[in-house]
Amino acid sequence: MKSSRFCWLVCVAVVATSAAQTQRPVTAILTGGAVVTVDTAKHIYNPGAVAIDGTTIVAVGSAADIAAKFTASQQINTAGSIVLPGLVNTHGHAPMVLYRGLADDLRLQEWLEKYIFPAEAKTVSREMVRAGTRLAALEMIQSGTTTFADMYYFEEEVAAATKAAGLRGVLGQTVIQFPVPDAKTPADALVRAEAFIKAFKDDPLVTPAVAPHAMYTLDGPTLKAARELSKRYNVPTLIHLAETHDEIQAAQERFKASPVAYLESLGFLGPGVLGAHGVWVSDADIAVLKARGVGVSHNPESNMKLASGTAPVPAYLRADVAVGLGTDGAASNNDLDMFEAMRFAALLHKHASADPRALSAHSALEMATIRGARAMGMQKRIGSLETGKRADVITVSINGARQTPMYDAISHLVYVIRGDDVQNTIVNGQVLMRDRKVLTLDEKAVIAEGRSWIEKVRAAVK
Ligand SMILES: [Zn+2]
Repeated sequence: MKSSRFCWLVCVAVVATSAAQTQRPVTAILTGGAVVTVDTAKHIYNPGAVAIDGTTIVAVGSAADIAAKFTASQQINTAGSIVLPGLVNTHGHAPMVLYRGLADDLRLQEWLEKYIFPAEAKTVSREMVRAGTRLAALEMIQSGTTTFADMYYFEEEVAAATKAAGLRGVLGQTVIQFPVPDAKTPADALVRAEAFIKAFKDDPLVTPAVAPHAMYTLDGPTLKAARELSKRYNVPTLIHLAETHDEIQAAQERFKASPVAYLESLGFLGPGVLGAHGVWVSDADIAVLKARGVGVSHNPESNMKLASGTAPVPAYLRADVAVGLGTDGAASNNDLDMFEAMRFAALLHKHASADPRALSAHSALEMATIRGARAMGMQKRIGSLETGKRADVITVSINGARQTPMYDAISHLVYVIRGDDVQNTIVNGQVLMRDRKVLTLDEKAVIAEGRSWIEKVRAAVK
């Protein structure tokens, strides 16, 4: 009896030691919550875990499985949470958070000409772009966005603030025909864009891009030159595309073509192009976008607020176009909450088509994650929780009254969860927010700095 007990103890010790020896040490393990992977097989592990080593996801699986195989000094307990890929915002203008709520409920031309353009002419500067991007970055980290696309001025300042915050960005230097605060001519803007690309070409977080504003604000030669520049450096091209009915009319009058057909005639369309909005497109246009491998960013809230129209998202999905979700700038949204964008997308297309099956919760979640990553050509690196991908991971709390009960994690992510429910935000393996405390930005200072712009912006539109 005595000896067999001794043997039992020794055997357990031997087994435990050999298990410890085979456990691979990694930097962090998130464990205990429902892990929604958004992989092609739609795996959900509950309770699940994600193992992160350095910048990379090394395993995703059941909590027991990961505990048996890995050990980490940093354990993040995600019980009572959903763990999902960081959200991908495919269109916006980060510094425009400083114009949040400046003017609402106006027709697009009046809104632009009376408010946005005068405010930009008088207030856009390096300092404004820095302050605005910091504020936008704080809001994105707090609401679970880990990658965002941006089109603005002084994009090197957007890039510096993005890196300091620890976010991932596809950042496009704007090229536009008329004089703007960072370029007197489109030729100047192209020079800026090239310098910007060279400065950030191999950055782990920032993907530099060229952002020709739109087909109606640029002449043909400049559109071609902007596209050539992107191709030369193999970086993305971001453009506003078929956003409003006015744009369709302008294209018809000037070129007897749709905006998509016109850009196709210039040889502009191809992989690496991301068109924002894509509201006014025909079936033929959709076929061209698919054939050319163009990504589309759907911005339901901006389109609804400016009454731009309803993008044919179900048709894009049927054609398997890489269509992601975006918030657009905060001046036309008025926030950067991608959970809200998911919910609006799902509701808008049911309403517009009188068919509640038009856009499922899972499709909306894919658009905010893996399909958005595809739209930006980043699907091999981000957009789902899978071994080998960059560790861009968020967790959302499901402990409150609003989230109780939960039958289906996907349903909750789209129809219940808000940006404020995000607890942890991790990008490239770095924890940017832990239990709602942002670690890379001084929250109070960033908000105070944002407020300090109110008088300057008000004075600009008086
Ligand atoms: Zn926009």
